[in-house]
This record gives sequence, C-alpha cells and structure tokens, in this order.
Amino acid sequence: MELYRLTASELSRMMQKKEVSSAEITRSVFDRIAQKEPEIEAYITLDEEGALKKAAEVDEKRAKGESLPPLAGIPVGIKDNICLKGLPATCASKMLQNFVPPYNATVIEKLNAQDCVYTGKLNMDEFAMGSSTETSFFKKTKNPFDTARVPGGSSGGSAASVAAGEAIVSLGSDTGGSIRQPASFCGVVGLKPTYGSVSRFGLVAFASSLDQIGPFGRSVEDVSMLYSAICGKDPHDTTTVRREYPRFEDNLQADVKGLRIGIPEAYFGKGVSEEVRAKVMETARQYEKMGASLVPVTLPDPDYGLAAYYIIACAEASSNLARFDGVKYGYRTQNFTNLEEMYENTRSQGFGDEVKRRIMLGTYVLSSGYYDAYYKKAKFTQKLMQGMFQEAFQKADLILCPTAPDTAFKFGENSDDQVKMYMNDILTVTVNITGLPALSFPCGFDGKGLPVGCQLIGDKFSEQQLLNTAYAYEKAVGGFDLSKTLD
Ligand code: GLN
Repeated sequence: MELYRLTASELSRMMQKKEVSSAEITRSVFDRIAQKEPEIEAYITLDEEGALKKAAEVDEKRAKGESLPPLAGIPVGIKDNICLKGLPATCASKMLQNFVPPYNATVIEKLNAQDCVYTGKLNMDEFAMGSSTETSFFKKTKNPFDTARVPGGSSGGSAASVAAGEAIVSLGSDTGGSIRQPASFCGVVGLKPTYGSVSRFGLVAFASSLDQIGPFGRSVEDVSMLYSAICGKDPHDTTTVRREYPRFEDNLQADVKGLRIGIPEAYFGKGVSEEVRAKVMETARQYEKMGASLVPVTLPDPDYGLAAYYIIACAEASSNLARFDGVKYGYRTQNFTNLEEMYENTRSQGFGDEVKRRIMLGTYVLSSGYYDAYYKKAKFTQKLMQGMFQEAFQKADLILCPTAPDTAFKFGENSDDQVKMYMNDILTVTVNITGLPALSFPCGFDGKGLPVGCQLIGDKFSEQQLLNTAYAYEKAVGGFDLSKTLD
C-alpha cells in the first residue's frame, strides 16, 4: 500500500505504533507530487526540503520517546492566502508574487504546535475570488477526476491536492463557498467553520466579515482532527470566540437516530441539475432509513443570498485591497512620474480582471448615493436571512441540500460569463452571510463519473453534529471512493 493513499488518522496510528516514519510518508507524498503535479498543477510553491527536514525532526522526537500530538508528522498543504513564514504567500496574484511573509498565521502556529509537515502552498483563484482557479495569475489547477474540468474554487488547489494524494490533508478558506464547492467537485470532505471559531490572523483578507479558514480531508475523521487543531480563541483576532472546543475526532458518533434533518425546497429548485438533486435526495432518504426524520424548512431565497453576498463581499474587498498600492507590499510598477501614477499603474498591472471588477463593484456600492440603495439593503437582507435560519433551526437540527448546483464544469465554460460563474455559489453563500458552519461530503457520482457533494448546514458551533452526521453516512457506505484519483 502506497502511504500517500492513506488518511491522516490511519497514518497517525501507524506512526504511533512505529510502523512507519514521517520521513517515509513525506517521501511517498513527494513521489506522488512528482508523478501527478505536471498534470494537476495544485501547487504554487513546493517545499520538499523543508518538509523532509521537519519530518526527520518529528521522527527523532518520536524515537526519543516523546509523546506527540495526533497530526505530528502528517504532510499538510496550505492555501496560498495563509501566511507561512519563509514561503511566498502570493494569493495567486501578480501583486504578491514576491511577497514572503515574515510571520506565521495563527493556524500555522497551531499546526506547528502539532508538529505538522508542510508540503507547500496551494493554488487558488486570485485573492480567493472565483470558483474554478481560472482567475489565478499562475496556473489552472485540474480536477483529478477529469483534467478537462475545473477543481472548483477558490480553494481548488487545496481540494485537488488531497483528492490526488499530493497532500494528506489541507487548509483552505471559505468566504462564499470556497471550501465546500471545491470539496464537492473533487470528491473530498470540506468544512467551513462557524464564523469566529478559527482565527483569521495571517489570512490575507478578502471579505473580513465572511472569511473563515477550514480543513479538507479524505475522511470525516481527518477533517475533525484538523479542525480540532486550528480552532479556538486568538488574542490576535478579536472576532474569535472564547468557548470550550472539544477534540471533535474523539467524539465522533455514527448515529443519526432521532435527528431532524431540514430539507429546504428552494435549494433543490431551479438551476440544480436533475442528477445532483436525485443523488442528494437519495442521501436524505438514506438518513431516513438510518433513523433520522426529514422535515421541510423554509430558508431565504438563494437568489437574495447571492445578491447580498456579492454586494457585501465586494464592498469589503474594495476596502481590504486598498492596501496593495505599491508602497507597503508586493508589486510596484516600473513606469511612473508621480505618486498618483505609481498607485494607478501598480494596481492596473498588479491585479487581474476579476479582482478589478470586484474592487469597482465594491467601491460603487459604498459610494454616497448608492450606499443606501445597495450596501444598506444587503446588510438588511443579511439580518432577515439570519432570522429565517434561526426559525428553521426550531424545526430541524440541521439542514441538508446540495453543495453546488452541478458537478465540476469544463475550463472556459463559465469564464466569459461572470453571472453564470457567480451562480455556482448560489447554494453556499448564505451560510457565510449568516456566519453558520457547513460541511460538504461526497455522496456518490453523476453519470459522467464526477463526484456530487452533499451540504450539511448547522446552527452556530454545531460542528460536532455536522461531523457526526457526515460520519454516519461515511460509515454506512463504507468510506468515500477516491480509487479513481489515488491510483
Ligand atoms: N466563489 C465565490 C467568490 O468568487 C466564493 C469565494 C470564496 O469563498 N473565497 O466570491
């Protein structure tokens, strides 16, 4: 058995029993990268030397008899908008092509405390704006199930690397679906945590009130392990919440008896492909057979969610991205005669089209005269949506629906039509707008052999319940099938 195929929990147990070393696992993952990367292009930066050095250190600690945390020695890939000291954090943008952060994000400090090994930095859409990695300045990551298709985005590299065996687990970020949609397209598990449960310190901001970092894995247990490692109150991020966070993997229970699963009709409606609808409904029926009950719930119209998201996200992005001016970070134009021109040329040359589009949109909705018409209305809609979810949670313990309207699309299929591309986020964005946790897990394949994602949405801080429910399905079907991408 090739080690790169195994899950973090399996490898962790094997290392504890001294059946394998972190060096052997890391070697296996880098051999796999050498084999698959020319085709998949999941990484922007690889750090083989750093990874092997760290693996050797972990093995040495273990040999000395030190007791190590569960993720010690596990190769983890990191999305390129998360600062990892000493490696470039490009955000897949020309603007930050040469930016090497002098500090670690809090999530990296937390993974350091676990003695993780870092494979490198993963490709994404530029500044996390997109659903396919097509807006990356550097490369397009391919879907390991079909390389003519996108891996989803913006965390496309994070999902594809885990599906293809080029990382054991990975971190991504989710502002409007960027963990769940690529997880769905690549047949892996992805968790978007409750807003405020994971520190954003050291995550390059897109839309600060929506952004959350979260884990990808090939099993629910792996996602639980990684989430346990990164969550918690952080003095560097005042939006993080102080509370008891359990070790989620230790409390996993494959039991859904008595669980009330909410089915929102509007999320199975127009725009959702027949095959996706059928597969996800089949999953709901399976839960019913396992002892759960299905209850209809009314959620905010996804169309309003999408409109509110693109106003709020762009407004915040326009403000957050003002810092990239050629003075403080990254790229500076060569051709300018005065300060004004320097700003203008730097930003014109440094940002790609999608980022510029969003900065303009965001500046527009915040400008006087339009603020009331757009931004204020979007914030008002956000409040209403939060209320509707709270009502739904009176009737149901959690909500089940598709993650994305369809399975992975082909490169170029949506890139000329922004609205079509934005429609891909229609089932994921309301979760960010309302700050709720949600998880995507694979629930089978469509007729083309592409994975279908099932989304579970819970009330704030109900991650354990989401993980347990997905775990129950995983156990019932005997594990998620990645034989096609790991072979
Ligand atoms: N695809 C969505 C967008 O383009 C979500 C991005 C994200 O979650 N980072 O905004």
